Amino acid sequence: MAPTSTGASSSSSEELLCTLGAGTDADGAGSPEVSTEFDPPVNSDPAVDIVWTVCELSALLQLKTAASKTTSLRTCTHPGYVMRVRKELSKAATEEKLRRLLAEFASRKKPVSVVFKTRYWHQRWADVALKIVTFGGQHRYLTHYVTTLGHTIYVPDHWEEWPAANRYEILRHELVHVEQFEKYTFGGMVIVYGIFPLPLGLAYGRARLEWEAYAETLRAVAETEGIEAARSPALREMIVRRFTGPDYGWMWPFPRMVRGWIHAELDRIEAAQKA
Ligand SMILES: [Zn+2]
Repeated sequence: MAPTSTGASSSSSEELLCTLGAGTDADGAGSPEVSTEFDPPVNSDPAVDIVWTVCELSALLQLKTAASKTTSLRTCTHPGYVMRVRKELSKAATEEKLRRLLAEFASRKKPVSVVFKTRYWHQRWADVALKIVTFGGQHRYLTHYVTTLGHTIYVPDHWEEWPAANRYEILRHELVHVEQFEKYTFGGMVIVYGIFPLPLGLAYGRARLEWEAYAETLRAVAETEGIEAARSPALREMIVRRFTGPDYGWMWPFPRMVRGWIHAELDRIEAAQKA
């Protein structure tokens, strides 16, 4: 079985970026006291800070324009406008992160390829085999999962339609698997990931390798969407299900232990962000 990760994510990357004007309606739509509505970003990532600054400036420019047109002030300060700006900038910032990561893939000593899963016979066969050994529990292998084998990352056909934040976070996870293949070799990964000590039910080797990658997932989500998104119960329980359910062949069916790993990693991430 190959290292895989799902496309599921905790929340939209929009949440992270500047929240200018988000409270305007609640406090009275169209209030000219917009400077008090600025809400600093929670994330210290440089790219996000740049987005925040741009967003702040664009809103200020909009207000200056509005100041000479009293009747349009309400429109210009409407959260919908700011939300639209924020969304566009958020997408641009995240796509830039994704572009840089893919450039890093290409520039590695042995480049990492991202290809469509359904175009490879062994991936179609893996889909059938997984359906059989998990009694149908894993039936979304081709459509919802990303798989890494060596230096190739296999993605579903609709990969490009997934939000850039999700793709970035998933590729960060998969890069950990690429590095594991480099460290342990292909044969070593087959043994440690595939059959040690059991192929199903108690696959400690797979669980440890996946935990390394899911810890990176948490770091990537904290970076792109904020620590609150990384701490979301939805993301935590999704990861717990990966370890305890059929997706990875019930590799580590101890939910309390997995939650403990997640909790400890989030504390380390948060401490590093505050440092
Ligand atoms: Zn994985």
